[in-house]
This record gives sequence, C-alpha cells and structure tokens, in this order.
Amino acid sequence: MAHHVLCKHCGRSIHSRQTLAVVGRTLEPLHTSCYAAYAAQQPWYRKPGRPVNYWRSLLAFNALLMLGILLLHLLVKPLTVSVGLGLRPLLVVINAWLLVARLISYWSIERHLPSSQPRGGTS
Ligand SMILES: [Zn+2]
Repeated sequence: MAHHVLCKHCGRSIHSRQTLAVVGRTLEPLHTSCYAAYAAQQPWYRKPGRPVNYWRSLLAFNALLMLGILLLHLLVKPLTVSVGLGLRPLLVVINAWLLVARLISYWSIERHLPSSQPRGGTS
C-alpha cells in the first residue's frame, strides 16, 4: 500500500510508527524529531499537547488530573463524596475524547505505517 504520511513540519514522509508523533487537536503527523521544532513555532494558544499516539500520554494526563483534584481537595476545599462522584462523568468524557483522538490517529495515520523502521533500507 503506497500511502505516504507526510510530516507537517519538514514535508518529508514518515517511515515508521517509531518516528511518528501525532499532535494537536487536528492530529497533525510529525516526525518525533520535528516535534520540538514544530511546537516551538506555534503561538501559545496553538501549542500542541503531548503526542496522542502514545498510551502513556493518557496515563500521564490522568495522573496529573488526579493530582490536581487531590491538591484541590487538600489545599482549597475538601470535596464531599457526592462532589467526588460528580467528577466521574468529567473523567469519562475527557478520557473518551482522548481515546477517540487515539483511534482517529491510528485509523488515519498509524495503520499505514510499519510499526518499526524497515530493515535494509528501500531507497
Ligand atoms: Zn519532519
């Protein structure tokens, strides 16, 4: 299948999932090596978040969110059980969005790429 995934930053094709970083709300494909340069070019309101094509982004995000809620609970105002339970739909919605983004990223970009760098070189 000759489907080329082009890097939004340098315009060259991305050869494997190991060098792919899918970022931003619009799920732009980038080389992992181009990611920092691309992120630095964006104005603050368009800064891409962490690449979505890694499961650990999801874990890191949840850990931060939990920490935020915990700090709020300890430092600002103790949350009652009902408020705590009220936060659950929020977590579900946010995670569902991240999962959907992950699936779109996989379907539109990642499945076209081999999971690792092809050996031997094909040029
Ligand atoms: Zn690139």
